[in-house]
Amino acid sequence: MKLIFLGPPGAGKGTLAAQGVVICKVPHISTGALFRSAIAAMSPVGCKVKPIIEGGGLVDDETTILLVKERLAQQDTQRGYILDGFPRTIFQAEALATFSAIDKVINVDIPDATVLERLLGRRVCRNCGANFHITFHKPKQEHHCDVCGGELFIRKDDQEGAIRKRLEVYREQTLPLIAYYRKQGLLLDIDARGPVDTVVANFKKALGIS
Ligand code: AMP
Repeated sequence: MKLIFLGPPGAGKGTLAAQGVVICKVPHISTGALFRSAIAAMSPVGCKVKPIIEGGGLVDDETTILLVKERLAQQDTQRGYILDGFPRTIFQAEALATFSAIDKVINVDIPDATVLERLLGRRVCRNCGANFHITFHKPKQEHHCDVCGGELFIRKDDQEGAIRKRLEVYREQTLPLIAYYRKQGLLLDIDARGPVDTVVANFKKALGIS
C-alpha cells in the first residue's frame, strides 16, 4: 500500500506513521527525517538545507524531489510505503505522480490550537528519531529515549517563531494538496485530536482494516 500522510506540523504524522509501519508492513519515509540525517552527517545536502529547516521554511522542490525519488527506488518500497512530509507543494505532488502511483492520502486533521501545544512539548531522540512529549507521551526516564536510551532534544524548528512560520508555510503551500487529492478521490480524513490509540483506530477504520 502506497500512502501519503498529509497534515500540519504537530498533527502527529510521525507517531501515527510508526504504528502504520507495523499495521501495513511498509517503510516509513519522512523527508524531514532524511534531511535531519543529512544535516547530522554534514553532507553537502545537509549543509545546504540546515539554515532553511531551522528557520521553518521549505527546502527547494528540486532537492526534495530527488531525495524522494532516490529513496523510493530502494528495494524495501516494493510493497509500498508511508510518505510523511512529502509532497508539500502541488509541484512536488505532480512530480511524484510521474514516478509512483499513490493508493490513498491520509489527511491527519487537527485544529490549529492543538498544534502549538504539541510542538512546544515535543522531544525527539537524537539517536533513533523516536518522538515523545513532556505531557502527553512522557519518556520513562527523563531526557532519555524509551526505545534506545538515546538523548532527547528539542528540534530547532520547534521553537515558537519557527512553528508559526511552518504553520504559515503549511497553509500557503501544502493545504491546497487536500483539495488536489480529494478531487482525485484519494483523500481519507482522520480525526487526529485524541490519544494515539484512538488516532490509530481512526486510521485503521478509514482504510477498512479491522
Ligand atoms: P518535518 O519533519 O516533516 O516537519 O520536516 C522538517 C522540515 O524539513 C520542514 O519544515 C522543511 O524545512 C523540510 N522538509 C521536509 N519535507 C519537505 C518537503 N516535502 N519539501 C520541502 N521541505 C521539506
